[in-house]
Amino acid sequence: MNKKAVLFSILAAIGFGPAQSWSSDQELNIYSARHYQTDEALYGEFTRLTGIKVNRIEARDDELVERLRNEGANSPADVLITVDASRLKMVEDLDLFGPVESSVLAERIPAHLRTDKWIAFSTRARVIVFNPESVSAEQVQTYESLADPALKGKVCTRSGSHPYNLSLGAAMINHIGAEQTEAWAKALVGNFARPPRGGDTDQIRAVAAGECGVAIANSYYFARLMNSDKPEDKQVIESVRYVWPNQESWGTHINVSGAGMLKNAPNKEAAVKFLEYLASDQAQIYFADGNNEWPVVQGVVTGNKALETLGEFKSDTQPIGDLADKIAEAQRIYDRAGYR
Ligand code: FE
Repeated sequence: MNKKAVLFSILAAIGFGPAQSWSSDQELNIYSARHYQTDEALYGEFTRLTGIKVNRIEARDDELVERLRNEGANSPADVLITVDASRLKMVEDLDLFGPVESSVLAERIPAHLRTDKWIAFSTRARVIVFNPESVSAEQVQTYESLADPALKGKVCTRSGSHPYNLSLGAAMINHIGAEQTEAWAKALVGNFARPPRGGDTDQIRAVAAGECGVAIANSYYFARLMNSDKPEDKQVIESVRYVWPNQESWGTHINVSGAGMLKNAPNKEAAVKFLEYLASDQAQIYFADGNNEWPVVQGVVTGNKALETLGEFKSDTQPIGDLADKIAEAQRIYDRAGYR
């Protein structure tokens, strides 16, 4: 086999279809809001497989978006990687993403986890964490239940204007309607143990310490504590319990880490090739495991210890694009409800 044939067979083996055209781009510029240990392997493998050199700029979401806006049509960025549907939607609304057509992505990424403009590559769940000394599991089986008057003075969350909570509100609008979501948000605020502050891990720690009876947190923060060797983290995990919310109804709210090709991408072929690479089995494992998330491609398993322990659950399958469409409304509802 010549060099090209060898490379071709490797690409075919990791899931690139035979119809794949050869990229003439030799470089790829990625703006990423993610950085984890496995990322080096993730990008290194792509270069090894395709010969395409990857240049990365890693910064906070808002910094990357600001940079893209300032660079405009002259931006060197080909791909943006970020987390949460609300942030991906914001970039979409700024008209920064370009359309991607790929049969590989259409085949490998479940339809509800992609839009015309961006694609989810891993998922995280928004779980309910409670302290069994002050709250029972039966009391907190659903997101809706957090508005129950019985939980007055016990609920903790991070800020309502944070993307994670806005996405949850957006998901609820689609499931129970705007009116019910607003009533829920008002009652939720009425149940707070303290004004929202800190991140999700802070809420879990506060539940363990007994300052809060129940909190909402993304699964990877919980998994991170589960995988931690630090005695103080082990203590936290021993003190709390978790619930997969809404198993009897619409399923646990999930959100995503995702990526899209930028409209002004100078290396569009390489960009599509990279997005397709992210959907390959090996890249799925690197990408998801880097942040204790779940791969989106069916049948791919990371072997992450904490995720194995957390087990299976029924997740919400509403199209992620439908959820993204309701984020602005969720913000207005939270504003009226005083959920800041
Ligand atoms: Fe996070």
